[in-house]
Amino acid sequence: MSKDSDRVKKAIAMATKAHESQFRKTGEPYIIHPLAVKKILEEWGMDEDTVIAGILHDTVEDTNLTLKDIENEFGESVAFLVDGVTKLSTARNGMRDIDTYLPETKDNFLRLMIALGDDIRVLIIKLADRLHNLRTLSALPPDKQKKIAKESLEVFAPLADRLNMGLLRVEMADLSFKYVDPKRYDYLKDLIEKYNKTAAKSLKKIEQEISEALKKEKIKFTLSGRVKSIYSLHRKLAKHDQNINEIYDLTALRIIVEDVTTCYLVLGIVHSLYMPMDGRIKDYIAMPKQNGYQSIHTTVITKDKHIVEFQIRTKEMHEFAEHGLAASFYYNEQKVTENYKKGKIEHLPTNLLWIQELQMTAAKLREGKKVDLKKLKLNLFADRIFVYTPKGDILDLPKGALPLDFAYRLHSEIGDHVMGVKINGKMSNLNTKLHHGDVIEILTSKNQIPKSSWLDKIITPHARSKILHSLNAINKK
Ligand code: MN
Repeated sequence: MSKDSDRVKKAIAMATKAHESQFRKTGEPYIIHPLAVKKILEEWGMDEDTVIAGILHDTVEDTNLTLKDIENEFGESVAFLVDGVTKLSTARNGMRDIDTYLPETKDNFLRLMIALGDDIRVLIIKLADRLHNLRTLSALPPDKQKKIAKESLEVFAPLADRLNMGLLRVEMADLSFKYVDPKRYDYLKDLIEKYNKTAAKSLKKIEQEISEALKKEKIKFTLSGRVKSIYSLHRKLAKHDQNINEIYDLTALRIIVEDVTTCYLVLGIVHSLYMPMDGRIKDYIAMPKQNGYQSIHTTVITKDKHIVEFQIRTKEMHEFAEHGLAASFYYNEQKVTENYKKGKIEHLPTNLLWIQELQMTAAKLREGKKVDLKKLKLNLFADRIFVYTPKGDILDLPKGALPLDFAYRLHSEIGDHVMGVKINGKMSNLNTKLHHGDVIEILTSKNQIPKSSWLDKIITPHARSKILHSLNAINKK
């Protein structure tokens, strides 16, 4: 504890006192939980304000402490973060259980979380919070375990993936999957272990061969095996009719090198040693994944007919793949600002530019520069509105969307039979623009069929194609 700064020590004292009379389901004093969240945030290399907010994250919701107390003691930034975390959990409590969401709304919930987490550090605290809750899930009754695990699998792990926090995604998904489907989990865990045992020998040989070849070319590298997550194996098997012979990345080797040019050089060396499989070369360096992930993947067949996936990337790409956004706060703090000054920024896909902006801001904060906090409040979905069904399901639509857009998003069966619409309880016209937060009730009648005039009462391509499809079907009759 001695390495804690005075501010951090003060936060610990404050949280300990506030949670004094509270206990976790495990019987331990409640403060164990915020302290564990603190530790996770430190491991992720987060800045001090985030760590302090992590220590205090449950105080405003669950104790007598107020935001004002926190602001007075630790400043606006910490108070802002704690407020964000509190708002997120309040928003979530207002929603129904994940079991009863419409299939579409799970992804919307994810978006909503991102939209609510104005400062991405709020989401990172939330993820650390959820991770610790998952790690200690065994103390809860089975029905709660399942509920939390399911939500983590369907909302939090994908969120980690979106932020390219690879290690977190794997840990969350596997921890949750164990509770969601314990039998399947055990079966697959066993399967992977057996597979690894039989593969171990030939893998050793491959490692030797490739190491020698790289040394010969005087390439600096680190080589490591990567463990496939049980949940991602489960997903892949489902896609391939449970045929394990079609899973080509059960064995994967990572080669981490100094720079991008060397990545391509290594790709050439790998292919000169082993036969690449047709259509299995993926260049995520030239074309990064949506979440910013970069690496070259190639699947090869070795001389003794073993199938191995190679993943080739630079150190920075590796760091970003494992820790994602959290890593950038730490790893890029100088580098990003340095490169930024020099105008040298490694390009990110445009949908991730907000991450870069955030990195920049975080770096400035860490340098002790003044940052306009309002600028930190990203409005990631400025062009979207969130509206509700009467049951409380959330759908997001583009700004300017009309009731028929909403109806067709719910289901084409609903869209095709729209009679009228109630917006916030009032009968409204089908030309009425929807607004953020509206509660929309679609009234249907079996006798109603789509009309061509409806094409003027929509703005989404989805509704357009559904209406055209139905009009066609009607004309054919
Ligand atoms: Mn908590």
